[in-house]
Amino acid sequence: MEPRPPEPEPPPTPSEVVLETLDLGVRYGEAHAIRDISLRILEKRVVAFIGPSGCGKSTLLRCFNRMNDLLPAAEVTGRILFREQDLYAPGVDPADVRRSIGMVFQEPNPFPKSIFDNIAFGLRINGFQDDIADRVEHSLRAAALWDEVSHRLDADARGLSGGQQQRLCIARALAVEPEVLLMDEPARALDPIATGRIEDLIGDLRRDYTIVIVTHNMQQAARISDDTAFLYMGELVEYKETQRLFTNPEDERTEAYITGRRG
Ligand code: ADP
Repeated sequence: MEPRPPEPEPPPTPSEVVLETLDLGVRYGEAHAIRDISLRILEKRVVAFIGPSGCGKSTLLRCFNRMNDLLPAAEVTGRILFREQDLYAPGVDPADVRRSIGMVFQEPNPFPKSIFDNIAFGLRINGFQDDIADRVEHSLRAAALWDEVSHRLDADARGLSGGQQQRLCIARALAVEPEVLLMDEPARALDPIATGRIEDLIGDLRRDYTIVIVTHNMQQAARISDDTAFLYMGELVEYKETQRLFTNPEDERTEAYITGRRG
């Protein structure tokens, strides 16, 4: 008997789709940074955006929590749905969006405050009053930092190492209980050991969160992500399971990039 061809993957159910973009475009003045991007990000997966510098990875990431609103020149077209709700609909408060969809940046950016207050401050401005100390501990544990700082919560956060500062920023983002964590090259400023810790942490966090990460490092994308999107000159070229993208790229631009023929 002929072997049966493998069953095609069933399409995701709506409940699995956390974020969806429909013909998303961003222009800075006259220049198109990204155009016609339609993709779906599924629940509790780690999704990596890769591609050469300037291809639009950060611009795309910033759309997901309306960070581009803060850039006067940026014009967003198309739609982005978060749990089927239009993130850019009138009446949507960007502060609410950023609570549900947190962000960690390239350079660790702790507040000039104590380790404790770095997290407590964000909780208080977001209206949390109760159990602040418990939440601080819980967030620091979730970010794999508690054991290193529990005895010095009153110390200035800027005295931590770069890697610890970045984990503190992750703890700060987690404290307000987001569903999605956006990370823009979170290990760019870190040495290999601190980078490894962040990668291990992402591996732990994927149990509870949907994570979208921009990285210029293909090995990192291959190590930590479930799905990878390759962008080139503002276009989404290919988006699929990471292992398949790296072993079986369909587009010659993806292949050229991942084999190092084009960077
Ligand atoms: P990547 O993250 O892949 O390096 P970016 O999203 O940062 O790419 O940039 C995409 C394009 O948009 C680039 O041409 C970049 O110069 C431009 N760009 C990014 N941010 C701004 C900005 N704030 N103002 C004007 N142009 C920008």
